[in-house]
Amino acid sequence: MGPPRCVREIRSKRVPDTEENFEMCYCKSCPTYDECTSRKGEKLYCSRGKSGCRLERRGCVCGECNVAIKYALSSNYYCIAGVAKF
Ligand code: SF4
Ligand code: SF4
Repeated sequence: MGPPRCVREIRSKRVPDTEENFEMCYCKSCPTYDECTSRKGEKLYCSRGKSGCRLERRGCVCGECNVAIKYALSSNYYCIAGVAKF
């Protein structure tokens, strides 16, 4: 028997942390993505949560990303705000 239905529903509301989604992520071409995030190899903040770096908001390209389109994400700056809630 699997987890209760409500737990499965909560899990399904997270962007899956998959290799495919990681490759599709646009963060590396974003003006907010800096030397610190690059050194840490961070990406896919909508699934993995906020950055460990102190970031300045210099624009966000999440809206153009195929991960955002695939999961109908409507927010941005996941590197600062944390995981996508949908
Ligand atoms: S929505 Fe933003 S954080 Fe999520 S994969 Fe796309 S560019 Fe990366
Ligand atoms: S979450 Fe948005 S602001 Fe942050 S690095 Fe990715 S595209 Fe840029």
